[in-house]
Amino acid sequence: MIDSHCHINDSAFVNNPEAYIKEAKDAGVAEFLVVGYDLKSSRIAVDISKKYENCNAAVGIHPSDVKRMGKNDLNEIEILAKDPKVLAIGEIGLDYYWDKDPEIQKQQQEFFIKQIEIANKLNKPISIHCREAYEDCYQILKAHPVRRGGVMHCYGGSAEMAKLFIKLGFVLGFGGTLTFKNARRPKEVLEAISNEDYVLETDAPYLAPDPFRGKQNHSKYLYLVKEKIAELRGISPEIVDLQSTQNFNRVFK
Ligand SMILES: [Zn+2]
Repeated sequence: MIDSHCHINDSAFVNNPEAYIKEAKDAGVAEFLVVGYDLKSSRIAVDISKKYENCNAAVGIHPSDVKRMGKNDLNEIEILAKDPKVLAIGEIGLDYYWDKDPEIQKQQQEFFIKQIEIANKLNKPISIHCREAYEDCYQILKAHPVRRGGVMHCYGGSAEMAKLFIKLGFVLGFGGTLTFKNARRPKEVLEAISNEDYVLETDAPYLAPDPFRGKQNHSKYLYLVKEKIAELRGISPEIVDLQSTQNFNRVFK
């Protein structure tokens, strides 16, 4: 399996990436996309990707972090993104759940668009974080097409919107939230999409799947997401593994 979105660059794991990678490997995870959310974490993601062959990086400024970042940080992101081990710009996007202030939301949109421009300039896909902002996110992607597409990380929108994002060249990332008891929406989405449209992710250390909900997440729990997708789509976990790996490689490599 490939964990298409994890934060080995988080303080929870950064002191011992080797142990993290080994534990995950023993649980069937062969590859990791280590995703940045600000300048510092993006730098660490690149460092990790240089040190471990099975790790690649995404660099970018998360919408919840734009208020403490400057335009110059975007130049730094662009320089970092030129590295061949950087497969994507991310995680970038919109988060209206944590930021209700319209001024800050506007700032988020500006950073999102600027980072889409970096992705297009370097011909790389993007990893999108979107929370309570699906309509605006869609409008921005329509007005600023991403040449290489990318992933809607931790997709929590409707099945209807999912089809629109897929049409724009995106796959959907599914993680721990899929396994939660009240997860009605992701289930509807999974029934509506086809085999080419999804990748697996953990978002570790966040959003641990059931039965570890509320605890620290880890890529070693990725199999729980795989099994849930298999159950919901009525196919074997092996097919989910194969298909999601193919999808990841098509989008990111
Ligand atoms: Zn994340």
